[in-house]
Amino acid sequence: MKRQRIGIFKLASCDGCQLAVLNLNEELFDLAELYDIAYFREALNRSPLKQYDIALVEGSVTTERQKKEIIEIRERARFLMTIGACATAGGIQALRNWANLAEFKRQVYPSPELISVLPTSTPVSEHVYIDYELWGCPVDAEALSETLVSLMVGRRPGIPIYSLCMDCKIKGIPCVLVSQGDPCLGPVTRAGCGALCPSFGRGCFGCFGPKEGANIDALMHRFEDLKMARKDAVLLMDKMNTYAYRRTRLEQDH
Ligand code: SF4
Ligand code: SF4
Repeated sequence: MKRQRIGIFKLASCDGCQLAVLNLNEELFDLAELYDIAYFREALNRSPLKQYDIALVEGSVTTERQKKEIIEIRERARFLMTIGACATAGGIQALRNWANLAEFKRQVYPSPELISVLPTSTPVSEHVYIDYELWGCPVDAEALSETLVSLMVGRRPGIPIYSLCMDCKIKGIPCVLVSQGDPCLGPVTRAGCGALCPSFGRGCFGCFGPKEGANIDALMHRFEDLKMARKDAVLLMDKMNTYAYRRTRLEQDH
C-alpha cells in the first residue's frame, strides 16, 4: 500500500493538540508505516511541501497571515482535517469575539501596541472547506489514530457521536447533576474524553464542544432550577468551545 503524505500544521494554538499526536508514542510508529509524516511543525525540522494527501490543522485563524496560510494549506491538501477545539471552534481565543479587544490586549500584554490580530478568532471552517473535524481540547489522540487508519482503509471512523451522558451510563459513573446538583455540560457535549470530569465527581465543562442537535435551552432551564444565574450558565460554556456553543444557542433562538 502506498504511504500517503501527511502534513501537520499550526495556526493560533497552544500546541497541545500536536503534543497529543506525539503522545501516541509507539502507535505513532505504526501510523508512520501507513503515512509519510512529511511536515510536522512541532516535531520535525522540514520545509513545507507543495502537495499533501492529508493536512491536519491545529489552531484558529486570528491574524491576517493565518488567513492566507489556511488558504495555502487548503490548496495543497487533498483532504483537510481540523484537530482540536481551536481549529474546529475558534478556541479559547474566540472569547474576544464578544469582548473589547483593545481592553483584552491592555490587560494581557505589557506592550499591547505590538499585538496585531484580527478582531475575531474563527474556526478553520469559516475560511476554507474542511473534510473532517475532530473536537477536543486537546484532541483525543486515539480518535485521531482511529480516523487516520479508517481513512487509509476507506471505512467510517468509529468516533462516538452521542452526548457525554451516554459514557457516564456505559461506565456506571454517578451523575453529578442529579446526585450532587452540580452544573454539568455533559447533556449537550460530545463524548470523546471518556467522561473524565464526571469520573472525578465534577461536571463536564465542554472540551469536546456541542453535540449535534444539542438542546442548550433545555439545559439552561435545568441550571435555572439549580438556582444558577443565567450569566454563570453562559460563563460555563465560555471556554475553549465558546464560539460553537454560542452559535448553537443562536441557531436555536431562530
Ligand atoms: S484545542 Fe486546546 S490543546 Fe489543542 S491547541 Fe487549542 S488550546 Fe491547545
Ligand atoms: S455527570 Fe454530566 S455527563 Fe454524566 S450523566 Fe450526569 S449530566 Fe451527563
